[in-house]
Amino acid sequence: MNNPKVWFVGAGPGDPELITIKAKNLIEKADAILFAGSLVPKALTQWSKPNCLIQDSKGMALDDITDWLIEQADENKIVIRLQTGDPALYGALIEMVQPLDKAGIDVEVIPGISSAMAAAAASIESLTLPEVTQTVILTRVEGRTPMPAGESLKELAAHHSTLCLFLSITLLHKVSQELIEIGYAEDAPVTVVQKASWGEEEKIVKGTLSTIKKQCQAEKIASQAMIIISPTLGARDWDTLKKSKLYDASFSHRFRKGIQQDEG
Ligand code: SAH
Repeated sequence: MNNPKVWFVGAGPGDPELITIKAKNLIEKADAILFAGSLVPKALTQWSKPNCLIQDSKGMALDDITDWLIEQADENKIVIRLQTGDPALYGALIEMVQPLDKAGIDVEVIPGISSAMAAAAASIESLTLPEVTQTVILTRVEGRTPMPAGESLKELAAHHSTLCLFLSITLLHKVSQELIEIGYAEDAPVTVVQKASWGEEEKIVKGTLSTIKKQCQAEKIASQAMIIISPTLGARDWDTLKKSKLYDASFSHRFRKGIQQDEG
């Protein structure tokens, strides 16, 4: 007999094909799936058995969710909590795991493709570029959830690295304003991707700190959107791109000897 267990599974950003094979295999075997219907399309449960219990958690509070999972989990059941993107990012993972730990239920997590990655893919952007920025900050701005000390947007943005802002689309005006206040150019590029990977429903808006709010209003984007602010945006059209050392013909590394000797 196995210990009762709940699987926290990353569903990816929306497109059912962006789920991992491991997650899909588990969904096929599942007896009960609780999916976060506000961001996970029901299509993600399409591989489940006909008798699998499927429930949307959209209207449930945390206690209802954990009670449901605890109730479902017994020795022989495969119980899945299906979450948007990756469960480790803004997914209330630990809040759900703690009551399960207390109830003596095993937990396993299957990672998923985060919407930050899907938004970069949708807009054909690289979040890092040599000599531009080598750092990505995944964050949000302060709304009803307070930010810990040292993590205000102004402090984080002082690095001028890539910022991927979750859960912040309704505060876009504040984002632009604060970045301009700390010295970002008004024409610094911003990309907003709503429903990245959701097919026809996906919207990509490219603008600047001073234009993006109006552009998003015009597109009626007020939820389910990733804001990317980065000096790398638009690099596809640059003719001054610095190439990465990895593919530089003169650069030697473990798998390839460079044309000129370079100890790099
Ligand atoms: N764990 C998730 C994030 C959950 S928080 C992940 O890894 O992606 C919810 C926020 O994620 C939304 O407010 C939005 O900012 C972002 N988001 C989720 N799905 C998205 C999608 N398909 N396209 C754009 N942003 C998305």
